[in-house]
Amino acid sequence: MTENAPLVIVGTGLAGYNLAKEFRKLDSARPLLLVSADDGRFYSKPLLSTGFAKGKEADELAMQDAAAMAAQLDAEVLAEVTVSAIDPAARTLTLDGREQPYSDLVLALGAEVRSLPWREQLGERLLSINDLADYGRFRAALVGRKKVLIIGAGLIGCEFANDLSLGGFEVTVVATDPWLMPQLLPEPVAAAVQRRLEALGVTFHLGCGIRELAASDGGLQALLDDGTEVRADQGLSAIGLTPRTDLAAAAGLSVGRGVLVDAQLRTSDPHIYALGDCAEVAGLNLMYVMPLMTSARALAKTLSGAPATVGYPAMPIMVKTPACPLVVAPPLKAAAGDWQISGDGEDVRAVFVDPQGQLQGFALSGAAVSEKALLTRELPAWLS
Ligand SMILES: Cc1cc2nc3c(=O)[nH]c(=O)nc-3n(C[C@H](O)[C@H](O)[C@H](O)COP(=O)(O)OP(=O)(O)OC[C@H]3O[C@@H](n4cnc5c(N)ncnc54)[C@H](O)[C@@H]3O)c2cc1C
Repeated sequence: MTENAPLVIVGTGLAGYNLAKEFRKLDSARPLLLVSADDGRFYSKPLLSTGFAKGKEADELAMQDAAAMAAQLDAEVLAEVTVSAIDPAARTLTLDGREQPYSDLVLALGAEVRSLPWREQLGERLLSINDLADYGRFRAALVGRKKVLIIGAGLIGCEFANDLSLGGFEVTVVATDPWLMPQLLPEPVAAAVQRRLEALGVTFHLGCGIRELAASDGGLQALLDDGTEVRADQGLSAIGLTPRTDLAAAAGLSVGRGVLVDAQLRTSDPHIYALGDCAEVAGLNLMYVMPLMTSARALAKTLSGAPATVGYPAMPIMVKTPACPLVVAPPLKAAAGDWQISGDGEDVRAVFVDPQGQLQGFALSGAAVSEKALLTRELPAWLS
């Protein structure tokens, strides 16, 4: 019976929809069902952190609704339906209290925002942005307001600091991080970005936690660990994302940082696959667009009967801080090595070289981003 059941993809983010598009290029006959807890609109998530500079409402960022995507993909799209359980032995999903059979299942569940302890009590005054609905909610909360407190100085916190400044807001960033994007950047490159963001008007309190955060005069008041008080009209929490693994773990699938899959993107169950932010592919959990596009192409082949493994070339990340152009290829594969820094001002070139002299990563800011293509060619593949 399960052989006649559809291929089911859970999740209609970039991973789920791009897999469906790639799959339909190879197989126009197999029944396809997509299930999404959100409204199933197709949008490009990276555009969420450039929307204030461009003055875009959430509806303007949506490219197609669920019905249009269903027609385009010759698929059924169940929007606003949450999958609550998977039974791998029976090959069924539980959704809205009923059982849905699948022939093969793909988890494209994305990642969850990490929450600050004050989240519940502050309601709309402290939000996060991880999907189109969050973006719409945040825009609505900002109407008539000016000062934004961003908590977190990772890639997403920094992109929103730049974007909200360009959108006319007064931005303060507070983070325990010693410098901007410490997981990605060596300090001198981070300092270049910070200077350019400060020139735009952003205020930073780095290396500093928040002791108390409370509602005050319709806004927020933060007391920092160093005793500084920061007042703002609106808070944006950007302290990181955690791959959604609960559903897989409850079904008995192997999980680590993400849902564990091999190079064919197969989980510990032979009929269940995973890709995108929720997946840990051969030890790598890369929460970026390029890896999921590469994964979607490989998995589409496997699901259409021609098993393929995914390979990742090194894929540098263009960080959207237009105040200071920035591109980074983190040294993912290097067990040891050092950053070698040159350049000055905004234009910093940092290359990570291992003890054998092999380039393993780089971070380039300002005019140094022009070296991206040349340096990328020298990097070893991330997954081969
Ligand atoms: C603000 C922002 C800016 C970014 N900018 C960049 C960038 O410039 N470059 C880059 O490479 N990457 C960027 N990223 C990261 C990139 O956008 C993500 O890696 C990518 O969009 C993840 O896609 P996904 O489909 O895996 O997850 P998601 O888009 O999160 O989709 C997950 C889907 O799963 C569904 N779902 C989850 N649980 C269930 C359930 N139980 N039942 C049913 N449905 C469920 C959700 O409703 C959703 O449809 C950015 C991320 C953010 C937040």
